[in-house]
Amino acid sequence: MAYDPNNIFAKILRGEADAHVVLDEEHCLGFMDLMPQSPGHTLIIPREPAESIFDLSTEALGQLITTTQRVARAVKAAFKPPGMMIVQLNGADAGQTVFHIHFHVIPRYEGEGLTLHARSVAAPAQLREHAARIKAELESAP
Ligand code: AMP
Repeated sequence: MAYDPNNIFAKILRGEADAHVVLDEEHCLGFMDLMPQSPGHTLIIPREPAESIFDLSTEALGQLITTTQRVARAVKAAFKPPGMMIVQLNGADAGQTVFHIHFHVIPRYEGEGLTLHARSVAAPAQLREHAARIKAELESAP
C-alpha cells in the first residue's frame, strides 16, 4: 500500500488538523492520543512520511525511538504510573488504524485495565491539561 498523504497524522504534521501537542521538533512530533487507552496516552510520530517500521529510514527510526524515550520519561514524571507500555503496530492485521508510523506511550496503573483501542474520544479539556503536564516535564528535563 502506498503512503496516503491525507492520513490524519500527515494532516496534523501539516497543521491541517488539530492536536494537543507536547513536543514539536525538527524530526518528530508528540501529541495526546485523541482516544486514550489510559490517562496520559501519548503518540510520537516522525516527520518523514512512512506507513510502518518497514518503510521508515534507519536514521528517522533512530530519531523516533530516542524521542519516544524522552516523551515516555516526561509522561512517567507527569503521571507517575507504576508501569508503562510502549507499543508500535504495523499493518491492519496487527491493529494499526492510522497509516503513518507512530509509537504509543501508554501509562499503566495498578488494577486498571486498558480501555479499548481507538474507541472513545476524550474531553478536550482533559487532553489539554494532560498535554500541559507532559510539556512542563519536557521543558524542565535536562
Ligand atoms: P494505531 O491503531 O496503532 O494506528 O493507533 C492510532 C491511534 O491514533 C489510536 O490510538 C487513535 O486513538 C489515535 N488517533 C486517531 N485519530 C487521532 C487524532 N486525530 N489525534 C490524535 N490521536 C488520534
